[in-house]
Amino acid sequence: MLPRRLECSRCGLGHDAGTLQGSCESCAAPLFARYDLDAAARTLRRGDLAGRRRDLWRYAEVLPIAAEREIVGLGEGMTPCLPAGRLGAWAGAPGLLVKDEGANPTGSFKARGMAVAVTAAKRLGARALFVPSAGNAGVALAAYAARAGLPALVALPLDAPAAMTSDCRACGAEILAVEGTIREAAAAGRARAGAIGAFDLSTLREPYRVEGKKTMAYELAEQLERLPDWIVYPCGGGTGVVGMWKAFEEMEALGWTDGRRPKLLVVQSERCAPVVRAFEEGKEETEPFPEPETCASGLRVPAPPAGFLLLRALRESGGAALAVSEAEILEGIRAFARLEGIVPSPEGAAALAGLRRATRAGLVREGEAAVLFQTGSGAKYGEVIARALP
Ligand SMILES: *Cc1c(COP(=O)(O)O)cnc(C)c1O
Ligand SMILES: [Zn+2]
Repeated sequence: MLPRRLECSRCGLGHDAGTLQGSCESCAAPLFARYDLDAAARTLRRGDLAGRRRDLWRYAEVLPIAAEREIVGLGEGMTPCLPAGRLGAWAGAPGLLVKDEGANPTGSFKARGMAVAVTAAKRLGARALFVPSAGNAGVALAAYAARAGLPALVALPLDAPAAMTSDCRACGAEILAVEGTIREAAAAGRARAGAIGAFDLSTLREPYRVEGKKTMAYELAEQLERLPDWIVYPCGGGTGVVGMWKAFEEMEALGWTDGRRPKLLVVQSERCAPVVRAFEEGKEETEPFPEPETCASGLRVPAPPAGFLLLRALRESGGAALAVSEAEILEGIRAFARLEGIVPSPEGAAALAGLRRATRAGLVREGEAAVLFQTGSGAKYGEVIARALP
């Protein structure tokens, strides 16, 4: 159903959900879609979804559509939650479950956010779309824009994985390849986007990519008997963490879950760890991380746009943030592939390495249940996978 309004996640200011909106016009923080959850609870019942469509739009009551025909979709969501005993033993977490987001269209969970954001932007009248990206978000935007019949502009670092740049091109997007990281790409891309009137779908600068990503938590609640003790998540811009945390709040209001939420274990690369640093230093906002460089390109986000939301969710959950080395990420790639036959994205491998560190440090204890987000397929990371081989 359509949200009743958009609400600023920092100052609470309300915004009209009936027009295209970016971030809060008063304080620039992200806007959250607020639905009539009492009405939603009457039809959206956890035990009662079996006959629904097998993609994330099965949770239509808490997504921004008025009718199914508005959906710009490619079958995103409803990814498998796989028991991964051998990998769990390797990481010190027996009973480990892997949520394999590589099964999404376009090869990563960016499809979730973009499907919902493009659907909303199209319905609200956007004529062209723009995103700065480390790679996967660009591929997803290019694909969903093509699906919607809208032109797309994607700004990428020059050294983004080659397969990602070519997939964007294949889908007809205009590419802006920029020296530096996603941060520099964003700055250059915004000027061009303004010139061509493209609506900006940057991470946490419009309300609906979070809505797509939040469905990961709805799926966990639907797929599992009980929510895990830990969610292990490789964090870049933070849409997934922020989205899932919002979903837990909604699911409590819907009567899907009691007040117990999983603890969040956020994993970053040592070479780009703004969230880990702020978490350790007890700060409420992240600071730009100097000289960011990691093979997990989706984690190369030196200045997450809404660090305060990430840190807030992390602390409310009683969770933790850990950084892993580049060598551990490559080791994680090998373990994933050899032990379970899943060729992961380096970001998913980073999460695995983080989990192993956390069990060794006694942070994640034996007997605690963990779900690890393997956030993308390794298919577009040929160079990195090759580097991981002995
Ligand atoms: C973007 C990306 C991430 C980081 O996700 P956020 O929710 O933006 O923090 C992790 N893994 C992969 C494969 C990505 O593409
Ligand atoms: Zn505000």
